[in-house]
Amino acid sequence: MQVRQALTHQLMCQTIVLCRKGPIVISQCMECKMLNIWLRNLLLNFTSEQFKMFKNFTSQLDVEESMFPFPDGEERLVLRTPHSDICFTFSMTEWEDFHVAMEEAEYMQQVYQLMHH
Ligand SMILES: [Zn+2]
Repeated sequence: MQVRQALTHQLMCQTIVLCRKGPIVISQCMECKMLNIWLRNLLLNFTSEQFKMFKNFTSQLDVEESMFPFPDGEERLVLRTPHSDICFTFSMTEWEDFHVAMEEAEYMQQVYQLMHH
């Protein structure tokens, strides 16, 4: 029940947009500090700590080894998740935008924290 309430709060959060990059929007709730990464039909929710860990993890990913050919002829980067049956895929452009967006979001998060203290 608590989890459900937390999730409902997140979905109802009054978020501010930290940054936009291509199709990626990263926002944060000023109340509970949860961060959202929104990319098309993908929505990831993180605490600040989890966000940092995710950002470090993805920046250390071996891009060459993570590229796979897809049936449409494109190569895409496949990002595994803790759920073995769910993977995220990114084109190279999306992957680069993703990193730029996370860098910007981290910076903006610090800016907003300074403003609110
Ligand atoms: Zn919130």
